Amino acid sequence: MNHRDDAAYWACPHGQDARLGCVACYEDSRDPESVAPLWEVAVWFFSERPLPIKALQDVHRHGSRFLLDKLSAPHIYLLTAHVRAGQGSQAVAGLVGFLVHNRHVVDEFTVQETRAVLLSPPAGTSAADRVWPRPDRR
Ligand SMILES: [Zn+2]
Repeated sequence: MNHRDDAAYWACPHGQDARLGCVACYEDSRDPESVAPLWEVAVWFFSERPLPIKALQDVHRHGSRFLLDKLSAPHIYLLTAHVRAGQGSQAVAGLVGFLVHNRHVVDEFTVQETRAVLLSPPAGTSAADRVWPRPDRR
């Protein structure tokens, strides 16, 4: 079975493929009352057009530890943030959802790679369950 095509694994709670982003997940993650677990999320994406330096600098104003970096490869960017979410797919969907929601920052993009790491996981959480997608799903 091709894990990358396993729709149920990649779906956020709203049924969207996390790699395509979900604005509802993004909205949920902005709830200041949320007590959901905190994830450190990274999204590598390709942008059709180079992003202005100002967009890179301003992204931190959008929330907790938001950081947008240009990598050395042309048009490849890395967006990282701390996101509260009940599960890894939701955390990733929320951060990609930020890109979808903020078309003035990035208009055309293609997600290439995602990673969510559970910060302060409960005791007994296995190493494989602290990261999403699990290493065998990549
Ligand atoms: Zn969602």
